[in-house]
Amino acid sequence: MYASAKPLFDHIVKNVTAYPPKEVRAMAFMLMEHYLRLRNVDIMVDKPIPANASHPDWEVIIARLNQSEPVQHIIGATYFCGLEFKVSPSVLIPRPETEELVRLVVKDCFWDEEPVKILDIGTGSGCIAIALDRFMSFAKVWGWDVSDDALAMAQENARELLSEVTFEKYDILRENTFEGQFDCVVSNPPYVTYAEQNSMEPNVLRFEPHLALFVEDEDPLLFYRAIADFCLKHLNPKGACYVEINEQFGSATKQLFEEKGFQKVQVIQDLSGKDRIVKAKLTQEGL
Ligand code: GLN
Repeated sequence: MYASAKPLFDHIVKNVTAYPPKEVRAMAFMLMEHYLRLRNVDIMVDKPIPANASHPDWEVIIARLNQSEPVQHIIGATYFCGLEFKVSPSVLIPRPETEELVRLVVKDCFWDEEPVKILDIGTGSGCIAIALDRFMSFAKVWGWDVSDDALAMAQENARELLSEVTFEKYDILRENTFEGQFDCVVSNPPYVTYAEQNSMEPNVLRFEPHLALFVEDEDPLLFYRAIADFCLKHLNPKGACYVEINEQFGSATKQLFEEKGFQKVQVIQDLSGKDRIVKAKLTQEGL
């Protein structure tokens, strides 16, 4: 039992060895904020641990981290675009790169007075759809996924975050029964090839859903082809499609959209300078 923040922080940092030290420090901050409501600065000044704080078994938490379990699974939540989303092994843990996708859509659509209809394909935790709904009061947002467990998690997040996204089960690779139009189609589909498994961290490989991560080596652009075909039928000519991509396939994804007849196809880099987003339009007008 620790009376103050700093010795507990140091204990976690010293005993979690399965992650690089910098990441362990970030995890220790997250855990102490979550369980004890102590912020980074409270730890620095060695504040007493509040008497009414929850007392998780820190040794169990340290052991779980040393099995490479993601800290977000231990806490059961993570922050994305400043909002707290629940996560489980059924959904991808929201990533900072994906916040950039949300930011780009909000920036592009912000001026629009009309109700903008947005679809998020492969919504997972619902993080993209819910963040867009929260930041764009003039938008009506739908989120689709093939996984029932992911849809349940997304619904729960929408309820907690007071968001009115409509979540529906839909398999973009197999179904084509949908009728309707969207002004904006967004997606972070599975894009990691199985060939990349060797270079992946165990916390991702062993604990995150392969359904949301992986695509066959032989056809890494499978989902982009399906999304592009969907957009040819269901994207408003003045709208735009935004997809997160594997950094290896920037020009190949651009080419795919261009070959389908899209205009003004752009590859956009993330904050680390890697090709991360493709934006494609059907006409020169609009967004
Ligand atoms: N960016 C994620 C990762 O590197 C993968 C996201 C995805 O497949 N859509 O683990």
